[in-house]
Amino acid sequence: MPMSQSFKERLFPIAAELAEHYGTPFHIYDEAGILATGERLKKAFASVTGFREYYAVKALPNPKILALMKDMGFGFDCSSIPELIMSRQVGGRGEDIMFTSNNTTLEEFTAAAAEGGCILNLDDISLIAKVPVFPELVCFRYNPGPRRTGNIIIGNPVEAKYGITHEQVISAYKLALERGAKRFGLHTMVASNERDYTYIVETTRMLLQIAELVENELGIRFEFLNIGGGLGIPYRPEDNPLDLDAMTKEITALIDDFKSDHGYTPRIYMESGRWMTGPHGALITRAINHKSIYRQYIGVDACMSSLMRPAMYDAYHHVDVIGKQDQPPSEVYDVVGSLCENNDKFAVQRSLPSIQERDLLAIHDTGAHGYAMGFQYNGRLRPKELLLRTDGSVELIRRAETNADYFQTLDFKEDVYSAKRP
Ligand SMILES: *Cc1c(COP(=O)(O)O)cnc(C)c1O
Repeated sequence: MPMSQSFKERLFPIAAELAEHYGTPFHIYDEAGILATGERLKKAFASVTGFREYYAVKALPNPKILALMKDMGFGFDCSSIPELIMSRQVGGRGEDIMFTSNNTTLEEFTAAAAEGGCILNLDDISLIAKVPVFPELVCFRYNPGPRRTGNIIIGNPVEAKYGITHEQVISAYKLALERGAKRFGLHTMVASNERDYTYIVETTRMLLQIAELVENELGIRFEFLNIGGGLGIPYRPEDNPLDLDAMTKEITALIDDFKSDHGYTPRIYMESGRWMTGPHGALITRAINHKSIYRQYIGVDACMSSLMRPAMYDAYHHVDVIGKQDQPPSEVYDVVGSLCENNDKFAVQRSLPSIQERDLLAIHDTGAHGYAMGFQYNGRLRPKELLLRTDGSVELIRRAETNADYFQTLDFKEDVYSAKRP
C-alpha cells in the first residue's frame, strides 16, 4: 500500500484543521515514518561493514528533513552548489558529503573543495585534468553501458549521459593516481524506482568485479563502493514493496565472498532518496471546482507546480478523499490543476468516492521528487511544506511562494550592451 496506515491515522483526523490553519495546498511529511525507515535501513545493512546512507538531497531538499538524516548518521549526496550549501548548513562536513555532478563546472569543483571539501565523484575522465585542487580521496561514476539494462526513469546505460565507460576505468584511476590521489571509491547509479531487489544485488556484484579488476591492474584497494540510489517504492496499491531483507542478505554474502578472496572489503555506501522519504509525504489539496463535460473533472487548488511526476513520467499517485477514504468508489474523475497544459492532471480516469467542493484530497507518496521538482511555469507558484513531528505537532518548514518571489528576479540593475562595430 502507498502511504502508511499509521501516517494516515495521524494525518487525516487533523487535516481539516491544518487546512484551516495553514491554507491549502501543502506537502506534509511524516517525521516518525522517515525515522523508522532510516532505522530499518540501518538494521537491514547491519551485517555490512561500514555501511552508510548518503541521502540524495535532490529528493527532498529541506533543511529540517536533512537534519533528520544527519541525526541518523547519514551523509548527503549532492550534485549542485545549492545542495552543497544546504548540506553544510545542517552540519554536513568533509566525507559526510558526496558530490556527484554531471557536466561539472569549475565553479562547482571550487564549491565542492570549499569548507572542508567532500568526497568528489567524477563523472568523466576529461574532468581529472580540470579539478583545480585534486583531492586525496576520489571516486568515479561507472556506466556499465551494454553490460546492464537500465529502467524507464534513468534510461538505458548506453544512452545515459552519466559516468565513465568500462573501457575507461583503468585509465581513469591511473590518471587520478598520477594527480596524487591516494584513497579511492567507486560509484554507479543504474536504476531508479526499481522494486526488484536483485537489480541492486547485481549492481553490488558489478562494482565488486570492477574493484577486483582495478586492484589487479593498479594495486588500488577501494575504501568504498557506492551502489547508488534507485530503490523503488510501491506507488500503486497492488505494487509489491522491494524486499530489503533479501537484498541485504545477498549483498552481505557477496561482500563476505569478496573478503575471503581479497582479505579486505570496501565499505558499502548507498544514496537512496525515494525509498527514504517518498512514502512519508502527501500533498493535501482542496477540491474547488467540479466540471462536467466529456469527462468529470475535479479541479483542485494545487497543480503540477507542486508535483510534476504524473505529467513528467505518467506516474501514478494514489489519491484519497479525506474522510471518505474507506468509501467504495462511485465516480470516475480526472483530478486536475489549473495550469494551461492538458497533462496538468494528478489522476486520470480514477475511480473515487463522490467528491464535493471543499473536500480535501491527499495525494500520496510526495516525499521524494515531489516539491523538489516544482517550477513556476505559467505563473503557478510552489506550495508550502509542513512536517508532522513525532509528538503530533506540526511545523511549517517552508512557506509558500508569493507573487513577490515570482517578480524578484525582475528587480535588477539596468545593463544594456551595444556590440562594438568593426
Ligand atoms: C537522483 C539520484 C539519486 C537518488 O535516486 P532515488 O531514485 O531517489 O533513490 C541518487 N544518486 C544520484 C547520483 C542521483 O542522481
